[in-house]
Amino acid sequence: MRVKGRTGGRADSRTAKAKQLPLLQSDRPAVRLPVLDERLRGTKFVSLQPKSVLNSPQQTGVDFWSLNPYIGCEFGCAYCYARYAHRYTVERARDGGRLSDAEFQEFRGPHGWEAFERRIFVKEHLLGVLEADLQRYFRSTSPTVRESAPIVIGTATDPYQPAERRFRLTRAILERLARCDGLNIGIITKSPLIGRDTDVLRRIHERSDLEVHISLNTVDVALIRHVEARSPMPAVRLRALERLANAGVRVGLIVAPVLPGITDDLPHLEALFQAAREAGARFVHAGPLRLYPAVRDRFLPMLEERFPHLVARYRRAYEGRSGAPRDYARALAARIKKLQARFGFPVNEGMADRYGRRLAPAQRELGL
Ligand code: SF4
Repeated sequence: MRVKGRTGGRADSRTAKAKQLPLLQSDRPAVRLPVLDERLRGTKFVSLQPKSVLNSPQQTGVDFWSLNPYIGCEFGCAYCYARYAHRYTVERARDGGRLSDAEFQEFRGPHGWEAFERRIFVKEHLLGVLEADLQRYFRSTSPTVRESAPIVIGTATDPYQPAERRFRLTRAILERLARCDGLNIGIITKSPLIGRDTDVLRRIHERSDLEVHISLNTVDVALIRHVEARSPMPAVRLRALERLANAGVRVGLIVAPVLPGITDDLPHLEALFQAAREAGARFVHAGPLRLYPAVRDRFLPMLEERFPHLVARYRRAYEGRSGAPRDYARALAARIKKLQARFGFPVNEGMADRYGRRLAPAQRELGL
């Protein structure tokens, strides 16, 4: 069976003949699912039929509703905390007998972390479940409090990662949200592909409160490749920011995570603030690295290879904890506030101010 562009994407010449993988849901017998597409470098896009895509604050433990069209991300940032959710999905399938040992090994990759970057779950046909989710959302939030019940797209994985070019799920979601009034919507991405959707973002902006966060933690091109395997270059992200700003969209920079001893020095941060200013950003937010257990497998080997002089410091600082040490976080926040004031951005306006509690991963974040 040859799989065509079911979600509106054009047929890709690299589309592979569909192969079959076991279903990952635990409450059904093993069913075969298609691989929707493959890349020459080994990435496979696997269909997942979600029961729900819009996660409520009660489900995730954070103060906003969240939506992530994909599980896994080809950009492959070494610090990405969404790895744990992908691992959980794959391990649950193995434990439930829905992946054979051989399939599990193939899925997991030689070190375990590869799967997150090379086996991307695509939440196909999500518009049907989104409709039901929106009804749930509208029932639980009156119009007067809706502003305080934001919907954030891209809390766990990038909604404009390469898969979006092919599957257009984020575009479809935005088209649906553009038909609503009075929503409070945030989007987080590293990808200039968001510029493709400027038209629909403008329509949302006319009827709802929309804020776009372009994620960038350094303008140093060489450095970025040490910590983000395949992410878009800083210049193209900043151009995307400028394009959206020129289109009237409220857009700013999110510098997250700030990496202790790597990207937290003043010249680094000044360069980011300056670039944000020149691109027309309305705000700059920043926050330090969180080193969750599932991140360590990927991040610490990178640190050992690229920044061996920092390994001991990181081990000490993050021993027995995921968050940065309190004193460090406080000092960084003070530095960011000074820079916000100096470069004319709103001071102390962080993601937490707008969306409530931290953008924290939780086992249920992806609403599987
Ligand atoms: S772009 Fe975002 S979701 Fe993708 S790997 Fe990087 S941090 Fe994770």
